[in-house]
Amino acid sequence: MYNVKSMKAEEFISHHEIIETLKYAEENKNNIELAKSILKKAEQCKGLSHREASVLLACEDKDIINEIYTLANKIKKELYGNRIVMFAPLYLSNYCVNGCVYCPYHAKNKQIPRKKLTQQEVEREVIALQDMGHKRLAIEAGEDPVNNPIEYILECVKTIYSVKHKNGAIRRVNVNIAATTVENYRKLKEAEIGTYILFQETYHKESYEKLHPTGPKHDYAYHTEAMDRAMEGGIDDVGLGVLFGLEMYKYEFAGLLMHAEHLEAVHGVGPHTISVPRIKRASDIDPDVFDNGIDDDIFAKIIACIRIAVPYTGMIISTRESKECREKVLPLGISQISGGSRTSVGGYYEPEAEDDNSEQFDVSDKRTLDEVVRWLMQLGYIPSFCTACYRLGRTGDRFMQLCKAGQIQNCCHPNALITLKEFLEDYASPATKEIGDKLIDVELKNVPNEKVRKIAEQNLSDIKSGLRDFRF
Ligand code: SAM
Repeated sequence: MYNVKSMKAEEFISHHEIIETLKYAEENKNNIELAKSILKKAEQCKGLSHREASVLLACEDKDIINEIYTLANKIKKELYGNRIVMFAPLYLSNYCVNGCVYCPYHAKNKQIPRKKLTQQEVEREVIALQDMGHKRLAIEAGEDPVNNPIEYILECVKTIYSVKHKNGAIRRVNVNIAATTVENYRKLKEAEIGTYILFQETYHKESYEKLHPTGPKHDYAYHTEAMDRAMEGGIDDVGLGVLFGLEMYKYEFAGLLMHAEHLEAVHGVGPHTISVPRIKRASDIDPDVFDNGIDDDIFAKIIACIRIAVPYTGMIISTRESKECREKVLPLGISQISGGSRTSVGGYYEPEAEDDNSEQFDVSDKRTLDEVVRWLMQLGYIPSFCTACYRLGRTGDRFMQLCKAGQIQNCCHPNALITLKEFLEDYASPATKEIGDKLIDVELKNVPNEKVRKIAEQNLSDIKSGLRDFRF
């Protein structure tokens, strides 16, 4: 039985409710009046239920689809402005005991060289990332209680925060590791991680069990209830996601929104972010064997519908996607992207050779961070290296309050400009710096509060003189 407040996976992600939702959406996919009324409701930025959003996703009317895109873009602009937050993944270890059939780390893959970074190697990777200009990382590891126990992850987080190379610093470490215990989540919280990210992969229990035939990840309930344990352990920024291509996208979409509704209903705060990865080619993995791949148009529609349904949840897209695809979906709701990513263990210090097959997946966007930053600015976006919220304790519902009070433009906007200025001074190429400095001059005028604007102006000038790390 469906119960949004239940703590049991099969009740808050009820298969029956998803099937009923898909039936309702299918029956109403040409109901223009209903679609219009849902869009009208969505305009208030208060979000939509999984049923309402599923009707929009199913809709095939060209005009309605255009209205979905227009509204997604409007909400994006209103709540996130033109800022795009930058991050990079850092792969710590590819040892894994699971049997996930889509992942090259699966235990039976003998083709991939297994590697786990020593603390010295972590330091080398972090220096390489700092030298690119990164301030925010997402650490990634396979699941292996012997090789990658929680103590190892905690040690790595400590090392990452401790590295201070030139003007560099990693100021926020997000963590993408397998589902774990409340006690371990508490330890991660104490280590001052940012967001705990865990992709559901698929919400379809039967498929989930087939796609994860062996290892601890096989347990659907343990995996699906992980975010509740994370929140019980004190982590209030959690990141959801599904791996598109494994199951029917409409099913995943409804499940994802039901998961968000559950977190909001039980913990009073929805997910901080939603990621939208698609399956990629990798060692021992042929993405074509999965039947549910989605094309770029469906992908864009999903992103726009997520933006409308959960306006206050940030949306992340990685270098799994090409420059062209990223360009298409940025205006529809993406607020965070990675740049200059390496997906092999140790790949920043020692980039993998072309024919090396040790990446977690094929990267489509192979540009450097400097190139990505320049491209974003040429498209009219402000690349932001801001990590202020979490460092000032503005996580979970406190972050939501900031959004809902409409204070983003007096807070996130100047923070974006200040952190971009640091990047331009310390790491940018002359061409990027020139574009960036002009952009900052123009965008500074868009800080509404005069007092804040004056402080930001002073901060920018102090950064030019060599000072660092200002924030609102
Ligand atoms: N091992 C952790 C876990 O079990 O959740 C997370 C780390 S894993 C490196 C991060 C994510 O990469 C997975 O959750 C999965 O969605 C994604 N992934 C795995 N194989 C992939 C592939 N072939 N293409 C794209 N993404 C993939």
